[in-house]
This record gives sequence, C-alpha cells and structure tokens, in this order.
Amino acid sequence: MLLTDIKNFLLENNYPSFRYKQIEKNYNSGRYNNFLEMSDLPKDLREILNEKFPYISVVEDKFQSELGTKKALLKLSDGLEIETVLMDYDQWITACLSTQVGCSLNCQFCATGKMGFKRNLTTEELLDQIRYWNIKIYPKYIGRIVFMGMGEPFLNYDNLLESLNHIDIGARKISISTAGIIPKIIEFANLKTQYNLAISLHSVFQKTREELMPITKTYNLDELIKACHYYANTTNRQLFFEYALIKNVNDSQKDLDAVINLLKSNKLFYLNIITLNPVKGSNLQPSDKLKLFETELTKKHINFSIRRSFGQKIDAACGQLAYNTDIC
Ligand code: SAH
Repeated sequence: MLLTDIKNFLLENNYPSFRYKQIEKNYNSGRYNNFLEMSDLPKDLREILNEKFPYISVVEDKFQSELGTKKALLKLSDGLEIETVLMDYDQWITACLSTQVGCSLNCQFCATGKMGFKRNLTTEELLDQIRYWNIKIYPKYIGRIVFMGMGEPFLNYDNLLESLNHIDIGARKISISTAGIIPKIIEFANLKTQYNLAISLHSVFQKTREELMPITKTYNLDELIKACHYYANTTNRQLFFEYALIKNVNDSQKDLDAVINLLKSNKLFYLNIITLNPVKGSNLQPSDKLKLFETELTKKHINFSIRRSFGQKIDAACGQLAYNTDIC
C-alpha cells in the first residue's frame, strides 16, 4: 500500500484534509503496528482503513543482532524472502535495503549473485523495509538509507525512483549503489537530484573487472568511466567508487597506480576502499595490502575512506545477505 492510495480514498470520500496529514505522520512514525492502534483517528475510519489497506507488505521471518548491526529476513506476500540490514554506530541509524529478490549480475565476490535472480521488489516492498525498521526500533528511527542490499537498484529503476519520491528523508542522506548499468547512470545524472551515487568498481582494468563482474562485458569499463565523468559533471555532485580489496586480484602496485590516476581525473570522484567479506562458494580472499593502499592514497592526496565491514558474525556484511540462510 502507498500513502497516495489512502490520500485518494480520503479525497473521494470527502474526509477533511487534516486526516491525511494525521495518518501520514502516524504511518511514518513507526509507532503503530496497524491502523486500529491510531487512537487519534475516529474509530470508524480506523476500521475502514484496516479493512481496505494492508498495513505492511513484509513480515519478519528471522531476526539477528550483533553490536551495532541488525539483520532481518523478511517474507514477501508470495513467500519469497529478502534481507534488510540496520547499522547503528553512527550519528544516523542507517538501513541497507534490498531492491530485488536475488540478482542477475553474478559478481564473483557477491553472495546474492549465487542465488540467481527471482524478481524485482515493488515500490511498496522497497518502502516497507524502512517501515519495518521504524516500527522495530521505535522511538528511534532511520536517518539514512543505502540501497546496497540484495539486487541491482538500476535494474529496478522505475520502482526505485518511485520509492524515492515517497521517502521522507533528505536526498543527501540516501545512497544508491550500482554495478554500472550505464544507460541508467546517464538517465539518473540527467535528473540532477541530490541523492548520492556509488559505483561498484573493484577493478580499473577491463579484463579483471570482466572476471569479477560479468556485467562489464555488456557495459565496458571505458564507457562506464565516461558515464561517471558525465554524472559528476552534470550533477556537480561527488561520485563514490566502491573498491573491495581482493588478494592477488586487484591489489597490486599497477592497480593502485591506475586507481590513483582515475581518482585524479575528476575532483568529484571519491574512493571507498572496502575490506572483502569472503563468501561461501568463492575462493576470493581479502587482501593484506590495506595499509599500503591507505598510505599511498594519503600520500597522493586522494579523497578516500576505508569502510571496515561490520556485521560479519551475522553475515550482514556487504554481499552476504540471504545466501547464508536457508532461503536459497
Ligand atoms: N548491485 C549493487 C548494490 C548491491 S551490492 C552494486 O553492485 O553496487 C552493495 C555493495 O557491496 C557493492 O559495492 C558490492 O560490490 C559490495 N559487495 C558485494 N559483495 C561483497 C563482498 N563479499 N565483500 C565486500 N563488498 C561486497
């Protein structure tokens, strides 16, 4: 259910406009588990809403928690399941949302890819992951969102954009990560929004990137980098590159030099170095060159940060969602 459905219903039935404002506030607050609990609404309206509109489209199946990180397995109405993660160790509580059930891209280091692609999430399902967390952690609430869970956001582009229009969190606190779907990067750039965009880069060489991320055969690296310049120059916003350091794959001096060249080619490019989380069914291992990269990147005045992984114990770290549970 979308709030616009309720808005239309209230309009059609001549309810005063403040009713919608009340419902919207209640619904987004996370304070209520259903419409019947909204005691500031007339009883008959609560009952009508309860009957006509499903409150939330996802149901918690499993829940795990480790210092600062929580992970939930959510069941969708057709029985399929997705994972969503909450990270609470920062100024803002961040939710990491899934955009698809499974993923078609089959990146070698990623657990979701191993389960194949099932389907896109609907706009409601995208939004209800936020609602699920807001109810779960009330009176705390989600302050930041990253679309970095299961799936490729830019292959579920329309629903993603629609969901963004409904989220009442500032665009600058929302990040979308893509494996590099070039036409959508261009389309997204042309919208000139304030959302943050991240590109999962992982290698600056066509051949290596093709092996790690087969999507590179369809959208090659040179074209991807051109699209990244186009995005940065059109939006004048920083563009984030995600680079998981993988032992003997992308952590040589040659890799480092090429990464530095890329980052120096546009002042809006920003690098996030990630530590690889090894996943079942892949023999890729985390690199031991993290310190070296850190020293050299600092020396060369590259804009970068190192994102250490949290949630590893509960398999809630990047790319580990769902695969290690019983859903695949
Ligand atoms: N499909 C999108 C978003 C989902 S993955 C994308 O590719 O960007 C979110 C981020 O986690 C991406 O940067 C992805 O490359 C990274 N990731 C996936 N598996 C990982 C792993 N095992 N270790 C570290 N990072 C991983």
